[in-house]
Amino acid sequence: MATKVGFIGLGAMGLPMASNLQRKGFDLNVFDLDESKMQQLVSLGARKAGSIAEASKGADVVVTMLPATQHVEAVVFGPNGVIANIDPNAVLMDMSTIDANGTDRIAAACAAKNIAFTDCPVGRLVLHAERGESLFMVGAEDAVFSRVEPLLNAMGTAIHRCGKPGMGSRMKVINNFMLLTIAEVCAESIALGTKLGLDIETMRDVTGATTAQNGQFHTLMVNKVLKGDIEPGFTIDLAFKDMGLAMTAAAEKRVGLPVGAAAYAVFGGARATDYASKDYSSLLSLACERAGVETPRLKG
Ligand code: NAD
Repeated sequence: MATKVGFIGLGAMGLPMASNLQRKGFDLNVFDLDESKMQQLVSLGARKAGSIAEASKGADVVVTMLPATQHVEAVVFGPNGVIANIDPNAVLMDMSTIDANGTDRIAAACAAKNIAFTDCPVGRLVLHAERGESLFMVGAEDAVFSRVEPLLNAMGTAIHRCGKPGMGSRMKVINNFMLLTIAEVCAESIALGTKLGLDIETMRDVTGATTAQNGQFHTLMVNKVLKGDIEPGFTIDLAFKDMGLAMTAAAEKRVGLPVGAAAYAVFGGARATDYASKDYSSLLSLACERAGVETPRLKG
C-alpha cells in the first residue's frame, strides 16, 4: 500500500516537492492556507485536507514546509495542530528552515509523546525542487531515517545525514549563512565590474574559471536576475530570516561575524524596498542601483 503523506505548506518549495511525491506514487493529503495551491495538487490526484488536523490524521508521515519558526510551532503545537492529531506510529518530518532551538522544542515534544521526528531542511533552489533534484540535511535517528528515505529519494538527489534530531537545522543555518553572504559579495563585485565597463559575459567566464567560482553567480544569478527574472524563488524576506537565524545563533554562542553582520544589514535594508518579496538574486539590482549602473543582462 502506498505510504500516506500529510503535506502542510505548499509554497514556492512545498508545491514542487509535494508534486514530485504525488507523481511518484505516494498517497498525498495536502493542506495550505492558500486554496489555489491545494488545487494544483488536487489536479495531480492528491486529496485536499480541510485543516492541519485532517492532514495529520491517518498519515504515515506528516511533512511541514512552512516559512519560519513561528509558523512551524503554530502548526505543530496548536490545539488543532500536528502533535494533537498525528497517529502514534507516524513520523513528523519538518523540512522548513527554522531556528534550531525551535527544532529542539519540537523534537522534545515529540519524544515526550513517543512520536518519531526528523528535521530535514532543504538545500538548492526552486528550479531543483521542480526537477526532483533537491538536497536534504537530515537530523534523525537511524530507525526514523529509514522511514523517510523513500520520500527524500522521490524529491531529491542528495541526502546528507547531519546527526541526531536538530543537526539538520543547524547545518541549514550554516549553509544559508555562507551562501547568502557570498551572494552579497557577488552582487557587489558584478555591480563594480559593470561600473568599470566590464561586460557580464566576461565577468561570468573569468570568475567561472578561477577560484572565484561560486554558485550564487553561476547557478543562481545567471538563471534569474541576469535573465531579467526576479520573481521568487527564494525571497529577500526569507533570506533575511535565515541570516537572522545565523546571527542569533552566533550571539547565543558569543561568536562574532563581522562580514556576516554587514551582509545582514544589507538584507535588512533590502526589506524596505520593493525587492522584499522578490527573488534574493535581486540583491544584484540593489547593488547596481547603489553603483548607478543598469543591472546587466546576459545575452541569449
Ligand atoms: P513560501 O512563503 O513560498 O511558502 C510557504 C507556504 O506555507 C505558503 O504557501 C503559505 O500559505 C503556507 N503557510 C503558512 N502558514 C501556514 C499555516 N499555518 N498552515 C498551512 N499553510 C501555511 O516559502 P518557501 O519558499 O516555500 O519556503 C518554505 C521553507 O523552505 C522556508 O523555511 C524557506 O526558508 C525554506 N527554503 C526555501 C527555498 C527557496 O528557494 N524558496 C529553498 C530552500 C529552503
